[in-house]
Amino acid sequence: MQNHPDINKVVRQHAEMAEFFSGGLTPKTNTPAMQPEQQTANRIASPETIKELEEIAEQTRQCRKCDLGSLRTNAVPGEGNSAARIMFVGEGPGADEDAQGRPFVGRAGQLLDKIVAACGLKREDVWIGNIIKCRPPNNRDPKPEEIIACLPYLQRQIELIDPEIIVALGAHAAKTLLDTPKPIGQLRGIFHEYQPGLGKKPVKLMATFHPAYLLRNYSAENRRRVWEDMKKVLAELGLPVPQGGKK
Ligand code: URA
Repeated sequence: MQNHPDINKVVRQHAEMAEFFSGGLTPKTNTPAMQPEQQTANRIASPETIKELEEIAEQTRQCRKCDLGSLRTNAVPGEGNSAARIMFVGEGPGADEDAQGRPFVGRAGQLLDKIVAACGLKREDVWIGNIIKCRPPNNRDPKPEEIIACLPYLQRQIELIDPEIIVALGAHAAKTLLDTPKPIGQLRGIFHEYQPGLGKKPVKLMATFHPAYLLRNYSAENRRRVWEDMKKVLAELGLPVPQGGKK
């Protein structure tokens, strides 16, 4: 039998998360107004970059490199600012993302939106995508062969967008991008380097808990950990770090 979430718990979690990430933790009055050029550091994607990103998106929509290609409703190539300073990378699409062809639009996505907003950023300022572009049936973990087949799309997206920081959301993203078996608990909270390949410039990577994990393991401590990770990202980028919040 399928497990249905406790609706009251879900509503309560969302209300509290919203408060934590957009109200309680980062009071708007304490968040310095950010100029658009601070978010992008005046980075502009070239028409060639934008064109190739769209070509990659189209390739993922046609892709049949693994079995997931025939099971999906929509591929989810990723979306956002083609000149983003921060790229958020999750695991793979869930049911809502598969239905809409867009990343992080379900419950976990709503929480990610709040985290982004708590950072003083908008979804359009950053890029959001996943390790794999198609939904695994019943949201099972991606298989190694699926990750291997799909990863070149993300690798090229990273190369084209050339972010200053990648935020790996959860164990699958962090372990894949860092090519390590270490658990997320050991990886999060410190800067690592994503190695794009021989002769290419490494990219700083911050690993943090996946928003879906946060929703499942709802504790003030875990929320604080994610927030601490994001504050390090903002500081590293020279962006205003919102002060205040729950003690
Ligand atoms: N979880 C993910 O890892 N990615 C999404 O796009 C949505 C949920």
